[in-house]
Amino acid sequence: MSSTFIVVGGGIAGLASAIALRAPKRRIVVLEQSSLNREVGATLSLQPNATKIVEKQWGMGDALKRVGAMRDEGFNMYSIDGKLQRSIPLVSKTEYGADRMVYHRRDIHDTLKEFATQVDGFGEPAEIRTSSCVVACDLDEGIVTLKDGSVIKGDVIIGADGIKSTLRKDVLGYEVQAEPTGFSAYRLVLPSSDLEQNKDFRDVIDPRSSFTSMVMGHDRRMIMGPARDGNLFSVVALVPDQRAEVEAGNSWTSRGDLETLLNEYKDFPAWATAPFRLAKDEIGLWQLRDTEPLETWHRGRVILIGDAAHAMLPTQGQGASQAIEDAEALGAFFSDLKGDIQLEEVQSRFKKIFEARFERATMIQRYSREAARPATDKGDTKIKMNPAEFMDYNCLYNGAKDWAHRRVGTESLEKELQALAV
Ligand SMILES: Cc1cc2nc3c(=O)[nH]c(=O)nc-3n(C[C@H](O)[C@H](O)[C@H](O)COP(=O)(O)OP(=O)(O)OC[C@H]3O[C@@H](n4cnc5c(N)ncnc54)[C@H](O)[C@@H]3O)c2cc1C
Repeated sequence: MSSTFIVVGGGIAGLASAIALRAPKRRIVVLEQSSLNREVGATLSLQPNATKIVEKQWGMGDALKRVGAMRDEGFNMYSIDGKLQRSIPLVSKTEYGADRMVYHRRDIHDTLKEFATQVDGFGEPAEIRTSSCVVACDLDEGIVTLKDGSVIKGDVIIGADGIKSTLRKDVLGYEVQAEPTGFSAYRLVLPSSDLEQNKDFRDVIDPRSSFTSMVMGHDRRMIMGPARDGNLFSVVALVPDQRAEVEAGNSWTSRGDLETLLNEYKDFPAWATAPFRLAKDEIGLWQLRDTEPLETWHRGRVILIGDAAHAMLPTQGQGASQAIEDAEALGAFFSDLKGDIQLEEVQSRFKKIFEARFERATMIQRYSREAARPATDKGDTKIKMNPAEFMDYNCLYNGAKDWAHRRVGTESLEKELQALAV
């Protein structure tokens, strides 16, 4: 007798869960609404708390290196007068047990898919069904209904359906929308060779060198660095959101306009904005949203993870890392269960996962908002913001069971949240 785990959503959280949950006599079905071959052209960094899981537990380090994963050596921070104000090396291997790594989104996505489905992995390979949009869910029976009317029943349902989650409303019993945070992000990726030909840029930044460069002005900041063995260079440029009133339900992503972007960054040095002018491919514009902490992540046979449970700002690069921590927690707390799993047993495991994960994910959501505060005083060039401020809390992590043993309790979370006053 085998049990069935249904994962709704084949993004980072869903594919990572499929890997973490692989076990003998366990069927894992990932239902993904898209055709799964359109992951956006942008980079994604994983922090040491997540790379430790991906590389050491799941053994994906070599496969990711083969597709050009890069170790990030540290942060170089420039003010808008073009001066290097601070250089913060990342000495993560010894302190945190792993490195901060940068991938092309498509590469990490494809590698997660490969590890979830390869036949020679531990347990049964997961089955990924694309063009499978889930529209409804019976929480206690564990039955999901797809858009084409077909149904599928599972012992455990993982809601990894992202920031616009369909299952969130089922679990909570009411609608919670991700809200605009007041920021938008322009994103672009270009060949590093194009930047090497730009003397202004090359004199300041070697586009193949494995550092994250930040140029910080009051409420605007550029975060940029290399990917794919240094052959690509990625830029994220934050701006105050002009479109906060965009109605919910509309697309939050659109094509960015080069002239508007250049105007937003007119006070920045010309070398810093050179990548904007060189971008041949589409410049993406994302409205950044997050959610308030949810009352619960689970009900019946369904649990929410990843952005569905705790969408956060990308200011610490922790969104995908938290999704990977969630996946690891699922693997750890369900490791001993095989065959039919009774509803009470599912709920008791979900409760443990929620207790182990909620406080931490909530803190990291809050820290990500904190990290978005203005980097300098208005009209000043002195950078007040420290990108390594929350690194110890974020990165000293050894899996959900270990965290559950040393968690400090809800009382201290309340105090921390009050202190942050966000
Ligand atoms: C500008 C920006 C930069 C970022 N940079 C970083 C970074 O450097 N590092 C980092 O860690 N994080 C970063 N993030 C955040 C990160 O991308 C997300 O936190 C992460 O992708 C969340 O993964 P997820 O699987 O929960 O959601 P998603 O990746 O959104 O995946 C959800 C999946 O579910 C599918 N789906 C949705 N509804 C249904 C349905 N009803 N039925 C079936 N399938 C469904 C979707 O098609 C999608 O494939 C960034 C985010 C932004 C906006």
